[in-house]
Amino acid sequence: SVFSRIHDVEDRVEAYLTLTEEQALAAARRVDERRAAGDKLSKLAGIPIAIKDNICTEGTLTTCASKMLYNFVPPYSATAYQKVLAQDMVPLGKVNMDEFAMGSSCENSHFKKTKNPHDLTRVPGGSSGGSAAAVAACEAVLALGSDTGGSIRQPASLCGIVGLKPTYGAVSRYGLIAFASSLDQIGPMGRSVEDVAMLYNAIIGADPMDATSEGAAQVERLNEDVSGLRIGLPRDFFGDGIDPEVRDMVLGAAKRYEQLGAKVDEVSIPMSEYALPTYYIISSAEASSNLARFDGVKYGFRAEHYEDLVDLYFKTRTQGFGDEVKRRIMLGTYVLSSGYYDAYYKRAQKVRRKLIESYQNAFDRFDVLLTPATPTTAFRLGEKTDDPIAMYMADICTISINIAELPAMVIPGGMDKNGLPVGIQLIGSKFSEPTLLSAAYGFE
Ligand code: GLN
Repeated sequence: SVFSRIHDVEDRVEAYLTLTEEQALAAARRVDERRAAGDKLSKLAGIPIAIKDNICTEGTLTTCASKMLYNFVPPYSATAYQKVLAQDMVPLGKVNMDEFAMGSSCENSHFKKTKNPHDLTRVPGGSSGGSAAAVAACEAVLALGSDTGGSIRQPASLCGIVGLKPTYGAVSRYGLIAFASSLDQIGPMGRSVEDVAMLYNAIIGADPMDATSEGAAQVERLNEDVSGLRIGLPRDFFGDGIDPEVRDMVLGAAKRYEQLGAKVDEVSIPMSEYALPTYYIISSAEASSNLARFDGVKYGFRAEHYEDLVDLYFKTRTQGFGDEVKRRIMLGTYVLSSGYYDAYYKRAQKVRRKLIESYQNAFDRFDVLLTPATPTTAFRLGEKTDDPIAMYMADICTISINIAELPAMVIPGGMDKNGLPVGIQLIGSKFSEPTLLSAAYGFE
């Protein structure tokens, strides 16, 4: 079973924070019984799935890989997780991530460092590194991740799997522990486009519990014929900092699409050079507000010795949060403070508006855009931990998509000279997942 695989490789990969073996076996048994009874089951019934640890699972630890939530057992389940259970999928457990989804290597987890299954001395990417590593190491067939600035796509790229960040609003965020509410999306990760499309269909839909969710179209049929598909190559994604091997792989993919009958042309996305600073202003501002609830009073970690209420807050947050989370809270509080608000937060919102327009203009001419997924292949553990800006640059290809609320996916493009996976990214217009997934299917 998948658990014997997990027990074989998990001490090396370290993807899981919590295993739910009993629950999984009970779910699998139920599927067997219903199948024997001749019940009609979903295609996903019995398929083992790993869940990122910022997605609330009733009765099962949900830590966000933070000391702050080391003992948090949610009394309810996220809508996306309820939908997974409604398909009779088999929940294997909760997987590692960067603390509160802040990071690009999984090294910001309070509990463990997940390794890249292709090379155990390298990172799996982040923040959904546990999800990606579990799928790549065959410790799960599918996984749920979350993506605020690249956290599904960047680890999918570094681990050589398929990952989709849906259009903002396609999947309910109810029960996803918030990082940056205007950017966060839950999405599917798997080893094939078809698998990812099935899980996408299962988790989408408007939800009364999340006012920002909207009905999205099911992918009825994947169409592998890409002839006539208009593909844009945004110049802005091929500049400095992109490894030549990665660039060549993406240009090779463009050639292949052309041979398959697609029409490929260059395009420019003005303002995308400002995506990274815009993202760190908006996401940190929202994070500083969202994370205010972790104060040691209602749930989670509480400092042991304190003098009064303010001291309780102070000590709990000092001891409970890791360095990267504190950095974001400080940055967010700063850009929102009076006197700086107009210069940073308000200006970032204006850039966001412009960036949305740039993408809209591009989608007047193109069905999908093709770009690198990450500037380099998987880096070594420890390589960027002392340099936050270098770590932030790992998301340079993915971050503007969240700002523009678009769907985007990463599929494996090939291997580099070190035998490490190189991902390619396809970007679609809002709610164009059926086209996007078909474009990916045609390449696969
Ligand atoms: N690496 C980015 C960050 O640290 C994106 C994370 C994410 O998408 N959750 O904020």
